[in-house]
Amino acid sequence: MHIRYLGTGSAEGFPGVFCQCPACEAARAEGGRNIRRRASMLIDGALLVDLSPDLLVNSLDGKVDLGGLQYLLITHIHAAHFYVSELKNLRTPYALGADRERVGVFGGAAVRTRMELVLGAEEMERLAPFLYFEELKLFEPHPLGPYTVTPLQARHGKGAFIYLIEKDGRALLYGNDTGFFPEETWDYLTGRHIDFVSMDCTNPIHSDTQNHMTLEDNITVKRRLFQQKSASAHTRYLATHFSHTSGLLHRPLEERLRLYGIGVAYDGLEVEV
Ligand SMILES: [Zn+2]
Ligand SMILES: [Zn+2]
Ligand SMILES: [Zn+2]
Repeated sequence: MHIRYLGTGSAEGFPGVFCQCPACEAARAEGGRNIRRRASMLIDGALLVDLSPDLLVNSLDGKVDLGGLQYLLITHIHAAHFYVSELKNLRTPYALGADRERVGVFGGAAVRTRMELVLGAEEMERLAPFLYFEELKLFEPHPLGPYTVTPLQARHGKGAFIYLIEKDGRALLYGNDTGFFPEETWDYLTGRHIDFVSMDCTNPIHSDTQNHMTLEDNITVKRRLFQQKSASAHTRYLATHFSHTSGLLHRPLEERLRLYGIGVAYDGLEVEV
């Protein structure tokens, strides 16, 4: 699998859209890897995990080609991860010349409800030749062309998923917006080998919510994955979905996480899994 991080920031972005804290001001001044769009990931140019409000921005530099998009996998319905209104732009006359099959949207039942609510019945009908929806059930593997995706329980409000994404014998664990995994998720992962972990680290230093993870949580997750043989020395572990509230720009984040063998994802990072 060829992975490209389109966004590695939390809901408000980094710098936060209206924020003028020292970290956001420094990120604006220094640019580069300090700029984090809303979290999403493109796999093989075909499978998009989460539909962020920054997808248009992602496509502007010519490095992201959405012409081959076939599957859209949604972790949960918070607006930073599922910017529903964008779906309308898949149909004519907003998208012309695209020679693609209907795009499949995959996620929990709440994803369909949100689509119907935001788009309305008339728009859903207009979109039908361009889009279809399939509901995924917790812990049930589901084929998406060459991929098998399995939704695992996240700790992040109702209906939020972590995904295990497999292709050609390689496995990626992708968690956006989750606190420390519930036991059912640990049970499912026991004995399964993961090649690449990409995990929520919204505020590496402290978190005032159960719904996201700190660096401490990530260290515990990584250790437990090793203990239960879901990870090995070959497993790559990256943290993502960073908020500005830690005050840490990219480089100090890297220095801090490196001590624990955890890499820091950044927008535009490409990984071969
Ligand atoms: Zn800020
Ligand atoms: Zn969320
Ligand atoms: Zn989020």
